[in-house]
Amino acid sequence: MKTHLAENLKTYGIENWGAGYFEVSDEGNLVVSPDNHRTVEVMRIVEDLNKRGVTCPVVLRFPQILAAQVRKLNECFRNSISEFGYTKLYRGVYPIKVNQRKEVVEEILRAGQRYGFGIEVGSKPELMGALSLEQSPESLLILNGLKDESYVAYSYLAAQMGRNVVVVCESLQELFHVVRMRKKDEPMPLLGFRVRLNARGSGKWQESGGATAKFGLSATELLEAITILTRDGLIGQMKLLHFHIGSQITQIKRLKTAIKEAARVYAKVRRMGVEIEYLNVGGGLGVDYDGSKTSSDSSMNYTMQEYTNDVVYTIKDVCENETVPEPTIITESGRAITAYHQMVITNVVRAIDVAREVNGLKVTDDDPQVVNDLYHIWKNVNPKNYREFFHDANELKDELFTLFNLGYLTLEDRARGETLYWNGCKKILKYAKSARYFAEEFEELQKLLAVKYVCNFSVFQSIPDFWAVGTLFPIMPIHRLNELPTVNATLADITCDSDGKVDQFVDLKDIKDFLELHPYHPEQPYYLGILMTGAYQDIIGDYHNLFGMANEALVIVDENGKYHFQQVIGGDQTGEVLGYYRYPMKELIEGFEKNLMIRVRQGDLDAAQAKKLTDRYKADLARYPYLT
Ligand code: PLP
Repeated sequence: MKTHLAENLKTYGIENWGAGYFEVSDEGNLVVSPDNHRTVEVMRIVEDLNKRGVTCPVVLRFPQILAAQVRKLNECFRNSISEFGYTKLYRGVYPIKVNQRKEVVEEILRAGQRYGFGIEVGSKPELMGALSLEQSPESLLILNGLKDESYVAYSYLAAQMGRNVVVVCESLQELFHVVRMRKKDEPMPLLGFRVRLNARGSGKWQESGGATAKFGLSATELLEAITILTRDGLIGQMKLLHFHIGSQITQIKRLKTAIKEAARVYAKVRRMGVEIEYLNVGGGLGVDYDGSKTSSDSSMNYTMQEYTNDVVYTIKDVCENETVPEPTIITESGRAITAYHQMVITNVVRAIDVAREVNGLKVTDDDPQVVNDLYHIWKNVNPKNYREFFHDANELKDELFTLFNLGYLTLEDRARGETLYWNGCKKILKYAKSARYFAEEFEELQKLLAVKYVCNFSVFQSIPDFWAVGTLFPIMPIHRLNELPTVNATLADITCDSDGKVDQFVDLKDIKDFLELHPYHPEQPYYLGILMTGAYQDIIGDYHNLFGMANEALVIVDENGKYHFQQVIGGDQTGEVLGYYRYPMKELIEGFEKNLMIRVRQGDLDAAQAKKLTDRYKADLARYPYLT
């Protein structure tokens, strides 16, 4: 059998976006390679999980990829620091809001231990979670986000626990809380300030930066803060300046401009005699989801090494120019660390094709003229007339509906007319695609003719950012990659929301309106992987239609290429999800039984039948809410 591996690699673009973590085996299966020499076929893992009763949708996590990304970021900074002769250190922190899962944060801290990698939190609950984790002694704990007194009080508590805690004030009010809570002879957190830069990022989150951003202090407020701290004898605690111009910065130029401005602010404050030690350049390091290496929203026009080079070089340059000591550099990269390590596996449950086969369809002279004309188009379209026939077919389709609405056609006439129209269009599209130029007017047709593959997952739970901000995630079959994918498909999820769909796909040069998939045979499972979902998706995902959190497996690959489940975590059960929305289990069962009892009293149901139904209801409350 001819293998189509090479074509498929190109079709799905794995080499463009895979960052070396994904490949395809000779058997045509998607392979994960958490480091360069260990590989595992995703299909094997999915089959194994199925045998254990862990069904789709299932989230696969590869903690080794998290560790590899932590190493990569730290090593890139080390390279830049050594290349430019930078005199201070890099001390990264992981913003836990990007993926708060305990297993994720712990793995990042474990891998980051030798680099003094710390944690950033953006709320008191996140801080309370962080205080339960083990951090390396030299790592930092950065407190961002809006703070009330009680959050600020926890910064003191963290200092008492011996953490290198920096409370980053977003406003003067927060500073007042910090100053007020100080107790003589008790440990105090270090102080930082988030500065509102004039510079903005690029891409979807650029509103986080700029003079009108919702976060941080203006230059005037920063000066006021320095005056207050000097007056209160606390200026020695002011150690950090912070800025963040938004996530997924797509253009390196924007980042450089922001760093130049921030480094200048640092240098000027330093020259005022304030001994700032840390310059925190925030998050924003992008992920190349579509592999195009461009400044499109799902990509970035720079590499991680280029990013660290620019950060280090720009800060060094400004410091030299202003003759101030260089600061220790902090970043709060979350997306770049977590995105790659996670994928969602879903199974196709149905294919919806507007152009269903015309099998056995007969048309005679007795049938309405419009049906006969559509039949003629379907039968006689060829490479020479396809364009003209397309225009005719569209007119005939309008006529078909007008006649139907006026009552001149039967439902059968309409059904046959529609079938002939779509099948005629299918042939027309085939000729349009093989022509020298693919005319624009057929692009829409191509979209309309895409087959909808209904997949067992919820867009709102598993890839909310596709729906909310249009982030494109690489999607591909995890098997059959030796076979040519001959169906142009879009994906629909199992929620009853028309937005629960994926109809834009990564492409090197463009955004694809459909994904090339294999023909779906209901008797054979067909699995798709939605990749690079490790950043922000878990936490933003919601419970639309009460589809809860998906099953999960943490997979480790050993030296011999054998995989092991570090942990298998069952997804939400139906009863649990209902519980989140205030249907306590007890009340659910009591309510269900009460409704059945009414039927029993009316004599419509006997007691044994009622018991059977209740038992089934109880059992289903303990089951996975997705399709089985
Ligand atoms: N730091 C702050 C203050 C943020 O608001 C964010 C997210 O927007 C991050 C860090 C993480 O950014 P990223 O995931 O782009 O690295």
